[in-house]
Amino acid sequence: MAGCLYLCATPIGNLEDITYRAVRILGEADLIAAEDTRTSRKLLDRYEITTPVTSYHEHNKLEKAGTLINKLQEGQNIALITDAGTPGISDPGEELVKMCFEEGIEVVSVPGPAAFVTAVTSSGRSNRRIAFEAFLPKDKKYRAHIIEELRNETRTIVLYESPHHLKATLKELSNALGEDRELTIARELTKRYEEKLQFTFGEAIDYYDTNEPRGEYVLVISGKSKEELARENEAKWENLSLSEHMKIYLDKGSDKKQAMKSVAKDRGVSKRDIYNKIIQEENNED
Ligand code: SAM
Repeated sequence: MAGCLYLCATPIGNLEDITYRAVRILGEADLIAAEDTRTSRKLLDRYEITTPVTSYHEHNKLEKAGTLINKLQEGQNIALITDAGTPGISDPGEELVKMCFEEGIEVVSVPGPAAFVTAVTSSGRSNRRIAFEAFLPKDKKYRAHIIEELRNETRTIVLYESPHHLKATLKELSNALGEDRELTIARELTKRYEEKLQFTFGEAIDYYDTNEPRGEYVLVISGKSKEELARENEAKWENLSLSEHMKIYLDKGSDKKQAMKSVAKDRGVSKRDIYNKIIQEENNED
């Protein structure tokens, strides 16, 4: 019978943040696959876990995944751990899980810390709807595309960032979302120098001009408010006459009735209002 892949969440800083179940499974597994065997040694020693450890990281994941799948097929149980938090969240866990599904191997997630959940819940920002973007892509074109998408995002936006790129990312986001947009910068969560700073983008940029970023960061950014979106929408239509606005929908294939409905919706007024104004505009033209 094939073994099972356990995704064991480990601390994001404070070594006490691990579940009893994760400690038991790490102790009972035949093999632990760790992102960085030296980093994980501290945790395993702390809990006196003597299970053999092998490395599984970004740079060997393609060859190594095959070896791990073979061992699972032979019946070994493998516990996957990463440097911090939940395997599969912005780390190489995802690919191995996909391969297990393709091979019919059972995958069990052993839940625990994840940096973005820790940051959002203590940020003081709305957490009913969040857009977790992890790290913004490095590829310039794709990055610009994602940032463009974030411009009108109304959910709370959550991003991971390294200290080396924090300042540049803040400037980029400030340009796109506006320097008055508010955010919480959570640093070194669960560690000795944990802090959560509340800023606007403008304030954050000024702050890091004199305070060099150090440690690990999560950005929790308020989404665009519904009022701001409505204001922007109104401004967009203000420059168009009604007939120009109608033409946009007529050109897309709507009939006159549908176009009036869409225009009314864009402008936040009733269909009757639009109808009356169109008649007025037509009469004025005569
Ligand atoms: N799998 C992890 C999780 O469950 O959150 C995330 C791994 S990702 C490679 C590492 C990033 O997570 C860091 O660059 C940082 O943005 C964030 N992170 C991890 N630990 C953190 C901490 N203690 N405080 C703030 N951010 C942290």
